[in-house]
Amino acid sequence: MADCIFCKIVKGDIPCTKVYEDEKVLAFADINPIADGHTLIIPKNHTENIWEISGEDLSAIHLVSIKVAKAMKAALNSVGIALLQLNGSAVNQVVMHYHLHLIPRRADDPKLALTSWELKPGDMKAIEEIASKIASEIK
Ligand code: AMP
Ligand code: ZN
Repeated sequence: MADCIFCKIVKGDIPCTKVYEDEKVLAFADINPIADGHTLIIPKNHTENIWEISGEDLSAIHLVSIKVAKAMKAALNSVGIALLQLNGSAVNQVVMHYHLHLIPRRADDPKLALTSWELKPGDMKAIEEIASKIASEIK
């Protein structure tokens, strides 16, 4: 897509700090890292979000995430890695080209705010009703 920044990276029109590349997938360093090693994995095909991406591209990205996660563990002594993927401006997706964030943590890093939400028991009746609404739409 012409005005998509990640498509421009795939084409080589703008630079990136590449971590991995194959026929379908590119992985590169995030330029606003929230941790050392913060990496993005994208499909080379322009596709916006989880509602649009093909199973083939999604599988390819997640197979590459295994490689990158292992490399992070070896290279950075990561003791944990958060995988984050945002869909839609309502959840703050900023770049509208599907991407998976890999955010590694070292043993002495502070907790990531986005992974340390408070656990509060929900209303089981509401939980079941909502889950059953979702289940009834699964195709
Ligand atoms: P989001 O759409 O909110 O999941 O995040 C988009 C991410 O893309 C942000 O973390 C940005 O720092 C990152 N980003 C935007 N432009 C570039 C770029 N040219 N190279 C690397 N990362 C980028
Ligand atoms: Zn794109």
